Amino acid sequence: EVVVVGSVNADLVVGVDRRPGPGETVLGSDLATHPGGKGANQAVAAARLGGRTAILGRIGDDGHGELLRAALGAARVDLAHLLLTPGPSGVALITVDPGGDNSIIVSPGANAHLTPEDVANARDLIAGAAVVSFQLEVPQPAVLAAARAAADAGARVVLNLSPAAEVPAELLALCDPLVVNEHEAAFLLGERGEPEAMARALLARGPRSVVVTLGADGALTADAAGVTAVPSPRVEAVDTTGAGDAFTAALCLRLARGDGLAAAARHAARVGAAAVRKAGAQTSYPKAGDDLPS
Ligand code: ADP
Repeated sequence: EVVVVGSVNADLVVGVDRRPGPGETVLGSDLATHPGGKGANQAVAAARLGGRTAILGRIGDDGHGELLRAALGAARVDLAHLLLTPGPSGVALITVDPGGDNSIIVSPGANAHLTPEDVANARDLIAGAAVVSFQLEVPQPAVLAAARAAADAGARVVLNLSPAAEVPAELLALCDPLVVNEHEAAFLLGERGEPEAMARALLARGPRSVVVTLGADGALTADAAGVTAVPSPRVEAVDTTGAGDAFTAALCLRLARGDGLAAAARHAARVGAAAVRKAGAQTSYPKAGDDLPS
C-alpha cells in the first residue's frame, strides 16, 4: 500500500534543561539510542497502523545499522530494498528540552549514498504502491527519480519537505500533497504568514494539494476544493520527536485506502497527537486498534 523512499537513522537522544549556546557546555540526561530517520519513522508508523509497507533506503555496516534493520523488521516493514553501504549509518543527534521541543543535527552517513540507480532497481516496488512517501534526508536525485517513477506508474506522491530545502518545480508539481510544518512553509515562501495564507500560497507553487502541520494546533489542508482546518486533540506533550513522521505516515495510509485529503488529515492529526505523548519517535507510535486521542 505504502512505499517510503527515505532515510534510516539512529537517534541519539539526550534530555537537557536548556540548550547550550556557542562555546558553552551543559550536562544532560543519560544517552538513549532509538531507531529513527524520517523515512524509517514513516515506514514503521504506517506498518504499525496496519499498512502493507516497504522502505527504499540505505543503512551502514555498523552496529546502528543492525539496530535499524531490526526495528524495521520488528514492525513488519518489507526490507527487500533496505540496502547496505560500507561505513557509518545515518545518525541524528537530538536534544529534548523540558517542554518536549527538540533540536536535531543529522549526519547522513549511508543515506547520502541512495542513488537513482537504487530507484531503478526498485521500479517494480514503486510501481506497485498506492502511495509513495518522500522526505529530504536522502539525496534529491534519488527523490526526483523515484517521484517520477511513482507518478508514471499512477502512484500518489507525498513529499514531506523536511529538512527544508529548495526543490525543482517538477518535483513540487508531482506532490499530492506537499506536507510542510510552519517553518518549512515559511522557508519555501520566503516569509512567514497566517497559516491559511501560507497554505494557499504553497498551492499556487504547483503541487496538486498541500498540508501545513501546525503542531498542537493541528493542520490545514489545501486543494482545488479549498482550505480545511483540521484540529489536533489536546494531549500532554512529552516528546514531539517524530510527530510529523507519524502524521505523514497516517496520512499516506488513509490516502492509499481511498480517504479524501481532509479526512485523511483528521485521522493523521490524532496519530500525530498520540506520538507526542511518549518519548522517542518509533517507540511512541500507536498500533492499529489502539485508542487514539480525540
Ligand atoms: P513537525 O514534527 O514536522 O514539526 P508538527 O509539529 O506540526 O510537525 O506536528 C505534526 C502533527 O503532530 C501536528 O499536525 C499534530 O497533529 C501533531 N502534534 C504535534 N505536536 C503536538 C502537540 N503538542 N499536541 C498535539 N498534537 C501535536
